Amino acid sequence: MLSMKERFDSPAFQEAYHCDVPLGAFCGARGTVFRLWVPTAQDVILRLYREGTGGGPMEQIPLRPEKRGLWTYITEKDLDGVYYDYLVTVDGETRSTADPYARACGLNGERSMIIDLSRTDPAGWPEDHAPPLPPETVIYEIHVKDFSWDPASGVPEAYRGKFKALCLEDTTLNGDGKHPTCLSYVKGLGVTHVQLMPVFDYGSVDEGGDPAAFNWGYDPVNYNVPEGSYATDPRDGAVRIRELKEAVQALHSNGLRVIMDVVYNHTYRLDSWLWRTVPWYYYRQKPDGTPSDGSGCGNDLATERSMCAQYILDSVLYWAEEYHIDGFRFDLMGLMDVPLMDRIRRELDRRWGRGEKLILGELWSAAETNAVPGTVLADKGHLANLDVQVSAFCDDTRDAVKGDLWSEDAAGFVNGGGLDAERLACCVKGWAGCTEGGVRAPSQTVNYLSCHDDWTLWDRLVMTGDLERRFQLCQPELLRQNRLAAAVNFTCQGHLFFLSGEEFARTKGGVKNTYASPAEVNRLDWSRAWENRELVEYYRGLLALRMRLPGLRDKTPEAAKRLLAVTVPAEDCGAVLVDNRGEGSPWKRLFMAYSAAKEGVSLPLPRGDWEILADARSSFAWREPCVVRDAAVLEPVSALILGQR
Ligand code: CA
Repeated sequence: MLSMKERFDSPAFQEAYHCDVPLGAFCGARGTVFRLWVPTAQDVILRLYREGTGGGPMEQIPLRPEKRGLWTYITEKDLDGVYYDYLVTVDGETRSTADPYARACGLNGERSMIIDLSRTDPAGWPEDHAPPLPPETVIYEIHVKDFSWDPASGVPEAYRGKFKALCLEDTTLNGDGKHPTCLSYVKGLGVTHVQLMPVFDYGSVDEGGDPAAFNWGYDPVNYNVPEGSYATDPRDGAVRIRELKEAVQALHSNGLRVIMDVVYNHTYRLDSWLWRTVPWYYYRQKPDGTPSDGSGCGNDLATERSMCAQYILDSVLYWAEEYHIDGFRFDLMGLMDVPLMDRIRRELDRRWGRGEKLILGELWSAAETNAVPGTVLADKGHLANLDVQVSAFCDDTRDAVKGDLWSEDAAGFVNGGGLDAERLACCVKGWAGCTEGGVRAPSQTVNYLSCHDDWTLWDRLVMTGDLERRFQLCQPELLRQNRLAAAVNFTCQGHLFFLSGEEFARTKGGVKNTYASPAEVNRLDWSRAWENRELVEYYRGLLALRMRLPGLRDKTPEAAKRLLAVTVPAEDCGAVLVDNRGEGSPWKRLFMAYSAAKEGVSLPLPRGDWEILADARSSFAWREPCVVRDAAVLEPVSALILGQR
């Protein structure tokens, strides 16, 4: 007899039970239909409730088995606003479960809710659309609670840490009317996309508990429902939906696209709605039958199984369609498989146009996974197998600039770790063509120096540059390193990405991973944003300049040919010459030099006149450029970007 695992993996099972009708509960004036996929069930009972938590069921109704493992119930009643769950009996064991396909839920996601989604649309929602696709992608990563938790943000207390705070367009530091915070600050920064850390319903924060409770949220409970702790009322299932839509609408109308961080590689617990509905089907197992744990979170989803793949694809398309989401960042994409990632790419392109929706992800996992043998994982070894418009976080440039992530004391180029010509060339090319089976074009690369994971860029610089580790203190030498790091990162080919606050020397006090640290540690410190406004200005100038540099924005496989020359006269100093011809640029060539030396460095220049576009002091020099020729002087620990007409 086949084991359950062998049965689920067999082509015969897929042949018999793959089912691509819309699953979940759908209501309207003509009635309500429930569809659940449970090929292994002997019995399924629907329970209806008045409330999202507590109280007994109003009604219990058996579902009817149909073909392909589908169970259904159809009623003439419009059950909009009614809560529900299921009793599923498999192998003689009966378990209660919420609907894994739920699109609304009650407090803490314990019960699902039937919802007429049209009543969750804010005013003007049908007219909501993303701003036009920008010439470059600059992604700014935020966490809903981090963003407005600081009382100095000027956000009214009732909205702090909520979706509602993302809608406020004129907040200022302590309400002083002068110094923009939150959305009014971000829209002036020059970023094009805001990436929201998990906003689907996650399990680590009690939605009815302490408002200060904090978690990053990489622990999915209901994949297709927004998180309740970010809503002003987590008990009414419609509120969180409307408020997330309002936030997307506000970001769109302020010129920002929205990327959602999605975590389809594992669930909060193995004992999830997916598991309770079809035990084991959605999960990988080790040969001994225990759950695979490549995520380091206790379980891995079996993305290679057809109904699991369908589940993930449907979920992505749902967020794009219903919430107007413009891109998806796949957590531990290295646990997902290449055919599924390519299929998601294809289906998004088919509906919204090629490349309109971004896909980016992490090319790694926490540990080895137990996928079906032969599964090609979307990991670092298989980037070349992926669609050229599936992008990945580039750990190589990250580590080259600020030091190896796995060692506390390791330094990168800006903090004294040195650089060689080959590495510099690869960084500038977004690593296209630099490794066997790796990046094919800079469209696959996301350049970053900081994200929510690990130390902030600033904390890293303090750890390698200040023996006393004074994280709050903004020391000039470290600010220079920060500027240089940003200049390197923002002059590499590929997409650009940074953690919110990197531009004002954000510190988490040296704590490496703050996923469960208090909101106080994680929150954006808006006073610091003002104190470090010169660093913010430097970021702003670099991003504005980037929009004028087609040689760096080029995402095609030919982009690497634009790198004309590389010189590394000393290991703490290097320069590159780049072909910058293209629309919107007065400069045919760029000469970009980087120095981590403690003394000034004089570098010979290629022939002709060169305009200073950015130097140690200003990244807005390009607005009124001085001209230099023959040689240029780089100040200690600084970048110099020159353009030739
Ligand atoms: Ca939740």
